[in-house]
Amino acid sequence: PNAVGGLRVVIAGLGASGFAAAEAAREGGARVIALDDSTSEATWDKAELLGSLGTEVRTGPGATAELPEDADLVIASPGWRPSAPLLTQAVERNVPIWSEVELAWRLSNGHRAIPERTPWLGVTGTNGKTTTVTMAAAMLEAAGKSVALVGNIGRPVCEAILDTDTVYDVFVVELSSFQLHWTHTLQLHGAAVLNIAPDHLEWHESYDEYAADKARIYNGVTTACVYNVDDPATERMVEEADVVEGARAIGFTLGIPARSMTGIVDELLVDRAWIKQRDASALELAGVADVHPNAPHNIANALAAAALTRSLDIPHAAVRQGLRDTRAGAHRIETVACFGDVTWVDDSKATNPAAASASLQAFEKVVWVAGGQAKGTDFDELVRTHAHRFRGAVLLGVDREHVNAALSQHAPEVPVFIVESDDDGAMTQVVAVAADMAQPGDVVLLAPGCASLDMYAGYGARGEAFAAAVRGIAPDA
Ligand code: ADP
Repeated sequence: PNAVGGLRVVIAGLGASGFAAAEAAREGGARVIALDDSTSEATWDKAELLGSLGTEVRTGPGATAELPEDADLVIASPGWRPSAPLLTQAVERNVPIWSEVELAWRLSNGHRAIPERTPWLGVTGTNGKTTTVTMAAAMLEAAGKSVALVGNIGRPVCEAILDTDTVYDVFVVELSSFQLHWTHTLQLHGAAVLNIAPDHLEWHESYDEYAADKARIYNGVTTACVYNVDDPATERMVEEADVVEGARAIGFTLGIPARSMTGIVDELLVDRAWIKQRDASALELAGVADVHPNAPHNIANALAAAALTRSLDIPHAAVRQGLRDTRAGAHRIETVACFGDVTWVDDSKATNPAAASASLQAFEKVVWVAGGQAKGTDFDELVRTHAHRFRGAVLLGVDREHVNAALSQHAPEVPVFIVESDDDGAMTQVVAVAADMAQPGDVVLLAPGCASLDMYAGYGARGEAFAAAVRGIAPDA
């Protein structure tokens, strides 16, 4: 029996995943109604398309205020907070709430395009998710597998479910805490929590709840629970998870691995998890130089990806090839220019303090460009750790004073410039001030530690603005 056949399914939020969920539910025989209170053109386009396919749609102010009387099931957009009135009404009325991932999982059982027991690998964590799933997919592809790379990375899982032209051998799913919050019966073949640090505290009730949502990824795992040996909270999550008997805990570490771990020995990535030989050379997966960039945090991502894909018996050569084929995405420690012996680096994707901290770690002397929406996190630890690195700091965005407070408390000697404007000219001013502060050999690093939505359409737009402003002062411009 189909998971949603005949049910009145309410799609709460018509973003990319809501749209795919609406389509998948309709195809699954549900009576779908999609709700979104936005009036944006993008929403309108999706509404029109869904409407033309026979799905009921309501958009605009008030559209999401009331849960329809006959609702049997709600599919919640990851952008919605659990406190949204429609979701609290669903909870009160005992109407189940699923993420789009949960819907995809339920529909995939018995779906004609998905052979039974197609393995799903999942990755969550505060930072490195996109990079790690990209590496894992590249490793699997190097081994000749057809991979659905889906989830929080941008392609909804339901879209792959609806894609009847492709037979996928494996699903690789990036999972956010928001998605996991409403995911209930997923049984991953292998799951990884990469790390956990404060983020999104405006969405979750507390840090503990945020961590608890991440930990849900391990529930139901059938084969491998991959955790970060260097981040003990992730190991505790595995210990407390409700896994299938026989599933193994596999650690990854930047140190020398114990048994059941992947790790580093003499600049080599080695696998002591899925290999039984004593012979050290048999353990070798790849060289540290095969990882791009080979900053420590990214080597950790590579070890996690290897631990996951090796659970599907991917040959070592494919692990190595996959790493060689993977480059960090745009706006992730991306060098945008180098002139006057100053390097300008865009890590706009560093949207929380932990990511910014990993980024700062990679450089010696830095003019730090930071600020934006802090999402309830704090910068005290970051500033304490990196105080010696700062040539200066240039702050922008709605929570600039929040970052400034940490700097003046823990690094009072560091010169700080605060950009007061929030308009198009802000980044030009940032770059001009940073150019003044920087000395030969320095790096000017945009690693804001904050979300960008107060001033930009997204981290991409913020990174572009930075790069454009840098090009504007480059000598050959
Ligand atoms: P996510 O998908 O979790 O947001 P990304 O792979 O897109 O992660 O990387 C996000 C940011 O975090 C980038 O700025 C990157 O430099 C940094 N980063 C990547 N991997 C890690 C890691 N393992 N630990 C800390 N920071 C990381």
